[in-house]
Amino acid sequence: MARPDYIVCLECQNEVEDFTWRDGEIRKATCDVCGNADPDNFALPEDYEEGYEDDEGYEEVEDEDEVADDYDEFEHDDA
Ligand SMILES: [Zn+2]
Repeated sequence: MARPDYIVCLECQNEVEDFTWRDGEIRKATCDVCGNADPDNFALPEDYEEGYEDDEGYEEVEDEDEVADDYDEFEHDDA
């Protein structure tokens, strides 16, 4: 796997370009914004963006269904 142009700090979502990349993994990184220096707390831009979009879309659909169901029940009880 090629070294990405930058990685994303999971603490503050800052893009960090200054990091050490070896054997397809983040070996060393430091976030200038929040001071995070734990390689496990950084994500590759690809992983970060994909995961974020999937989670958000799934949650939005579920919330809408729940709200609609609750509203129908409430109307029936009232009438
Ligand atoms: Zn940070």
